[in-house]
This record gives sequence, structure tokens and C-alpha cells, in this order.
Amino acid sequence: ATQLRRRRDSELTGCDRRRHFDYLVIGAGSGGIASARRAATHGAKVAVCEKGALGGTCVNVGCVPKKVMYNAAHIMECVHDAPLYQYSGTESVKLDWNKLKTARDNYVTRLNGIYGRNMEGSGVAKLEGLASFTGPNEVEVAGTKYTADNILIAVGGKPTMPADLEGVEHCISSDGFFLLEEMPSSALVVGAGYIAVEMAGILHALGCETELAVRGEKPLRAFDDLMSDTLVSEMARQGLTLRPKTTIGKVEDINGKKRVTHTDGTVLGEYDEVLLAVGREPLTGPLALDKAGVKLDDKNRYIAVDDFQNTSAEGVYALGDVCGNVELTPMAIAAGRRLADRLFANVNGKADYSDVPTVVFSHPPIGTVGLTEKQAVEKYGEGNVKVWTSTFVNLWYGPMPIDPADKPRTAMKMVTAGKNELIVGLHVIGVGADEMLQGFAVAVKMGATKADFDSCVALHPTAAEEFVTLA
Ligand code: FAD
Ligand code: NDP
Repeated sequence: ATQLRRRRDSELTGCDRRRHFDYLVIGAGSGGIASARRAATHGAKVAVCEKGALGGTCVNVGCVPKKVMYNAAHIMECVHDAPLYQYSGTESVKLDWNKLKTARDNYVTRLNGIYGRNMEGSGVAKLEGLASFTGPNEVEVAGTKYTADNILIAVGGKPTMPADLEGVEHCISSDGFFLLEEMPSSALVVGAGYIAVEMAGILHALGCETELAVRGEKPLRAFDDLMSDTLVSEMARQGLTLRPKTTIGKVEDINGKKRVTHTDGTVLGEYDEVLLAVGREPLTGPLALDKAGVKLDDKNRYIAVDDFQNTSAEGVYALGDVCGNVELTPMAIAAGRRLADRLFANVNGKADYSDVPTVVFSHPPIGTVGLTEKQAVEKYGEGNVKVWTSTFVNLWYGPMPIDPADKPRTAMKMVTAGKNELIVGLHVIGVGADEMLQGFAVAVKMGATKADFDSCVALHPTAAEEFVTLA
């Protein structure tokens, strides 16, 4: 391949050579930057095209600003708990949302700079503008055509704003949430996935009157029932209004307030903001994929790839949110690096999409890896699955002078399969769950059994120790 590349290079004129790359990456997000930089360390001539800010969704309108807001919400929760720990004087603690937004935006801008310098340091060229294919192995960016032996599509996605919802223009998405200059005093969050749960939790914890409307019975239906059911109880305890079986039909702007009407005609209420978090869609539209022969999946939605991130077009690859398989930053990064290793360092590896741990930054957070109980039963059969659970009050709440029945619960579940009780799923909701599961996920990846967990001495006093003392 290197010889072929050299021969092809020698056939190119000076100008063509400048516009020809070993690896052209479309999208400077989590997956694109990781893959580009890894390829450059292997000696490839690499360029990344980006239409917006460096870092993609995660850095600009995803994980990073979300975690800042989650942290702010966490501080507020501690302020609320403080009197229960016999602190006084906390009544006057207030968040200046606008100043926090400025600090958060400055932090994101700093990260954009760091990403730029890292790319430069790795020798990756940056092409600014919207990229689209003009032919196989040819891409146009800001009026200039570039060619490459290998092209990676890592363009991510954007929030879905249902066009058939009357008054959708009065609603915001998660992108809009990050533009809010002030905290709304009331909000309706619509959706049942990660983003809806996280943003509703943040708004509520910060003092916004928040309602969460889900079209089914509860949010996070795809998660283990113990997680979603515990979250629903916690929302009720915290006073976050959950509206199950609610499909909104119309949103009107009435003097700045958003009036929301159910599809059955009843008025749900009037809110400062209506935040739609009903899923995301891949940003394939502007790419002119047909010009490169890149095909979408059966549902005509995501880019179809095989296990090695190959698309239907030779020399064109895709990964991350645009492929729709495990839409998480570390997954996109892992897939990007594996691909670069395979293309430019002859390492015949592929990304492993199994047992990917994930955290929902809900209140309290959820950490999970592997199969839910239902999935395990489907996969291994009921007789082969064994489950251990534990529900308890975290020591954090122990000394608080409130009725023990009203104290929040941490809930854990271990799902095992087969006679040797191989751990195939671990789930936890409660204080610290977000920081708890990474190490356990390593053990699950390594094939740990219940006996392995039992043989590990507990860390005490922690909530995590429950995982090694389940009986
Ligand atoms: P992206 O990071 O979206 O990058 C794609 C890039 O391509 C963008 O910069 C875009 O501008 C650019 N682009 C698109 N089209 C073109 C084009 N035609 N030409 C040039 N450039 C183009 N994941 C987690 O793991 N943990 C979290 O806590 C978490 N929180 C999230 C919170 C929110 C609100 C959201 C929306 C997502 C969150 N995610 C989280 C998911 C995570 O952000 C994505 O899975 C990840 O960013 C996907 O990376 P990617 O490389 O596929 O795409
Ligand atoms: P999700 O796919 O997680 O959830 C969207 C949910 O909204 C669906 O599951 C569905 O739930 C509900 N929904 C769909 N259509 C409608 C509709 N028309 N009306 C009402 N509800 C609807 O999408 P998100 O946008 O929340 O997040 C996208 C992805 O980003 C996530 O899957 C995750 O991979 C990633 N992410 C990760 C985070 C993290 O790691 N902490 C945080 C945020 C995002 P139902 O069928 O039950 O109604």
C-alpha cells in the first residue's frame, strides 16, 4: 500500500499533491480527531475538515458543557443537604446562571484551542468548511477539491426537532439549552432518553419548575427496570413532575410563555421553555454520499458499516454517531483509533462494541455495563440467569434527621449467566454511581464471575463495596 501511495504521489503534480492526503477525515469531533491524530503518529499525511468548532458535539454541545451544568446542580443539591448536616446560612446561596454560562463557554473555547494545538502538534492539517463528496475519494471543502486514498466520515449528528409538531419553532433542543442566558423559571422537557433525563434533572436541581413528559410509562425504558424504576421514585421524592403517557400535539407562544397542548386536546401548561430531547439524527444530508457510492442502512438513516468501519465504498470509512451504534464519545474515539491503526500501522484490529460501560448523569446518576436482566434472560434463557440485587440508604443520608423511609435509595443489580456465574451485567443507581463503574467494567470485560467479586475485599465504607458483598 505504501509503494502504491508513493507511486501515486509521484504521478501527482505539485498542486495536486498539496491537495492529496493519505487520510482525509470529515468531522473534527470525538472520533474524527482521535482517528486523525493516531493516523498522523503512524506517519500518514492527514487532514481534517470541520464546519464548526473543534471537538464536535462532546466538547461544544454535549458531554463537557452538560457535565459543568451537572456539577452546578450537584453543588446545589449539597447546599440543600447542608442544613441536614447542621450547616446554617445556606438559604442565601444562589446560582448566577449567566456568569456560570460565561465561565462554561470560556472553558469550552479553551478546549477548542487545545484541540487545535494538539492537531497542529500531530501534524494534522485543518480544512475549514462544510465538506461534501464530489466523487469517489474526492471531497470539496469551501470551494476547493481534495483527494485522499482513505476518507473517514465522522460527522456525528444533531438533535431531532419533529417537523410535524405544530409550533416546534417555539421549542429548544439540547443545543438551545446551552445557549440559555438565564435559568428558565419553568420548563417542560420532552423525551425519555439520556438527554431528557439529564437536562430535566439539572434544571430541577437548580430550582427551575421542571416537568418531564414521556410518551411511554417511564423514562430510560431501555435500561434495567431496577434503574428506571428507582429513578422514577427518586424523581417523585425530589418533586420533579413526571408526566407519563404524554405526547405533545401543539406548542404556542403566548406573550413569551410556551403553552403546550397534549394530542388529546388538554392543555398541559405554560412554560418558559419547552426542551425537546426525542433523539438525534445523523448529519449525512450535506455529504452527497451518492457521489462516493456510500450507502445508508436498511432504514435509510445511518451510514452502513461492517465491523471494521468499512462503508460500501472502497477507501471510505465511517464511525461514531453517524453510524448509530453506541453513541458515546469514548466509543467514537476507540473506533477512530482502531481504524487508524488498521489503515496505517497494519494492526488488524477492530473496535469492540460489546460491554461498553455508560453513565446517565441523572439525579442520582446511573452506571451500567453489559446486559439488563431482560436481555440476559433473552440471550441465555431464564434457567441460566441469576440475579443479585441490593437496595440501601447511602451513608451520606445516615445522620440526616429525616424519616428513614424518605431517604433516597441506592439500587444495584448484578446479572450472571451459566453455572460459573459469569457476570454479564452490572447496574447501579445512587450517589457516586457515575464514578463507581469504570473499574468494575474492566472486570466484566475480563470475564469476572460472581466468585471473583466475592473474593475481593471490600473498600469500606463506600457504596461500591456492595458489589463485592452481594448475597
Ligand atoms: P461529533 O462529536 O458530533 O463530531 C462531528 C463533527 O463533524 C462536528 O464537529 C461537526 O461540526 C462536523 N461536521 C458534520 N458534518 C460536517 C461536514 N459535512 N463537513 C465538515 N464537518 C462536519 N457521550 C458520552 O460518552 N458521555 C456523555 O456524558 C455524553 N453527553 C452528551 C450530552 C449531550 C447533550 C449530547 C448531545 C451528546 C452527549 N454524548 C455523550 C454523546 C457524544 O457527544 C457523541 O457520542 C460524540 O460526540 C460522537 O462523536 P462523533 O465523532 O461521532 O461526532
Ligand atoms: P435517546 O435515543 O437516548 O432517547 C430518545 C428517547 O426519546 C427515545 O428513546 C424515546 O423513548 C423518546 N422519543 C423518541 N421519539 C419521541 C417522540 N416523538 N416523542 C416523545 N418521545 C420520543 O436520545 P437522546 O437524544 O437522549 O440521546 C442521544 C444519544 O446521545 C444517546 O443515546 C446516548 O448514546 C448519547 N448521550 C449520552 C449521554 C451520556 O453518556 N451520559 C448523555 C446524552 C446523550 P421512548 O421510546 O421510551 O418514548
